[in-house]
This record gives sequence, C-alpha cells and structure tokens, in this order.
Amino acid sequence: MVTSLVRGLVADGLVAEGDDDRSLPGRPAKLLSLVGSSGVVVGVKLVADHVALVEAAVDGTVARSAVEPWRASAPTAISELVRLLESFIAGGSDRRLLGVGVGVPGQVAGRERGTVTWPAVGWHGTELGESLSHSLGIPVIVDNNVNALALAERLFGHGRRFEHFLTVTIGTGIGCAIVVDGMIQRGATGAAGEIGHVPIDDAPDARRCECGNRGCLEAVIGQDALVATARAAGALGARQGIDALVRRADEGDEAAQRVFGEAGRILGRCLAGLVNVIDPQAVVLTGEGMPGWRHWTFGFEPAFRGGLMPQRRELRVEIETWQEDRWAQGAAALVLGTPFESDAGTQSRRVRARMVAAP
Ligand SMILES: [Zn+2]
Repeated sequence: MVTSLVRGLVADGLVAEGDDDRSLPGRPAKLLSLVGSSGVVVGVKLVADHVALVEAAVDGTVARSAVEPWRASAPTAISELVRLLESFIAGGSDRRLLGVGVGVPGQVAGRERGTVTWPAVGWHGTELGESLSHSLGIPVIVDNNVNALALAERLFGHGRRFEHFLTVTIGTGIGCAIVVDGMIQRGATGAAGEIGHVPIDDAPDARRCECGNRGCLEAVIGQDALVATARAAGALGARQGIDALVRRADEGDEAAQRVFGEAGRILGRCLAGLVNVIDPQAVVLTGEGMPGWRHWTFGFEPAFRGGLMPQRRELRVEIETWQEDRWAQGAAALVLGTPFESDAGTQSRRVRARMVAAP
C-alpha cells in the first residue's frame, strides 16, 4: 500500500518504489528506498564515557567511523561534543552533509528541540538537538538509541518488509522499539518501548535497576546481571565478564549455558506478553549480546512460543547480526528516515530541503 505521504515523496524524487516483496502472504508490499541525493549523513551514538561516530551514504553504508573518549556527566559535555563533531565532519568527504543524527540511551521528548532525559549521567530535559544544531549550523535529529536502530531496520534491514514490528536489543540493557503502521511509537514522554523496565522479580531483595526500581527485566537479564548470576553459580571467575561467559557456553560448559537459557526463558515470556498486546508481524532481535544468542534460544523458544496466543504462535523472529558500528549507523538513519516521518518538524524539513538540493 502506498500512503499519500509516500506518493508525495515519490513526486519530489526523494523516494523510489522498488520491486514487489512477495515473501509474505497477502498483497505484495513495495520496497521503498531513498534516491535523488548524493549527500552524506553523520550518526553519533552517545555512551556515558565515549562517543561512536560514523559517516554514512544515503543507502546506509558506512564510509568511515571513529570512537572518541567523552564524558556525558562533565559540565562541558555539549561543547566537547560539538568539538568532536566539527573535527569528524571536517575530516570527511566533500559531499553535502544532510544532517547529524544522535542516538542517546535516554528518553527523548520534543524531538524538535531534541530534549533528552538521561538520569544516569545527570541529564534532565537537556535540549541537546537545539544546542548542537545551533552550534553546527546543520539539522540535528536526536532520538532514543533503540528507536534509531528500528528506523535503520525499517530503511535497510528486515523491517523493510514489515509495517508492524518490534526491534528488541539484547546487551547491557534490554531495549525495544515499537513500529506500527510504519511509524515508531514514542508515547507521551518518549518512553514507549521500555521493555527493560517491565517488573519481573517481586522479591524484596530483587536486583536494583538503573531506573531506581527493583526487579526490572534488564536488572534481571542485562549483561551485569548475567555475569553476577554466573559468578554466584561458580560458572565464572571474579574478574571475568560477559565475553568469558559466552566463551564458556561455546565450549559446552553447562552452568554457563544454563545462565543464558534461563535469561532466554524470562525474556521469552515477557516478549510474548508484549507481542500479544501490540500484535506485530515480526520481532527483530539485535544488540551487542547477539554473539551469545544461540545459548538463549533453548530457554527462549518454548517460553516465547508457549506464551503467544495460539493463532500467533508461528510469529517470525528475525535475527540481525551485530556489528560494532551498528548503533551509530542507526543514529545516521534518524536523518535518512526523515522523508518517511509523517510529523515532519523544522529539523526534518531542513533535511528534506538539503536532500533535494544536494547534487
Ligand atoms: Zn528499571
């Protein structure tokens, strides 16, 4: 189905309709892609103690990348970020820069000004997008990291074939982005999709979560929790981390495999509940935890399938392989996805204007 939004974009020469996708039952969907611009975009992923940057072409391919130390909690964090961005942009191609996309681990409300809440580093209502755009003189679009990844999926990955899907990330935390009718659902405060904070463990001594509550999903099956569980079970030494745990499971250590299997079971039940509520066509799994995913599946599959309503039991689960620069590539997709956003604000309109003008 071609929406009026897409018809307008095709008329403007920003979007082309490709071949029919006949991989799913029902009326074939047209695969859409961006065209008509030879510009580049810059994507940045913010982490508490560093930033990852990429320069990407309009088809999402990464031309170059960098990782720089940076401290989000420093008083000079934003001016330092401007400096890092200016330096990265100056070292890039001479093709027109269409905009900068910034992915943050917090919640983003008011995407026009890119207002970020990231309590772990003391950011409360920080107008990041506004500050960066003003300093750099180019459009800047800020969003939650997982939303950015979902947009990259929608443009370049498995999500091209689905109007309704969940992108779930496994790693330090557990994240989720909800795409309905092709659009990312952000909710009232930008917090939609926070599956990591679904309450799981109601024991009084349940693990404390970064959000302040106890027993949240990511406090129970996030990387730190898996490492702590493995150490307590004697499956991991005191100084060993998640990579060692994956290695042990790969080598056939049953205690290590059980840690992942149990995490898979808990995730499976929780995700089945979410699928029953949202009714997506597919779930896309990704994140830095994917190298260990095969050890999660024996717990995940029965819990997930068994928790789905019977008519949804065959739901597709797509595995997206993980690369180090994927988060920053997702941030770049924030800029590339603007033609597909129905609620285009000033930043999006500025990006579209630069896309049309680029040689
Ligand atoms: Zn929490």
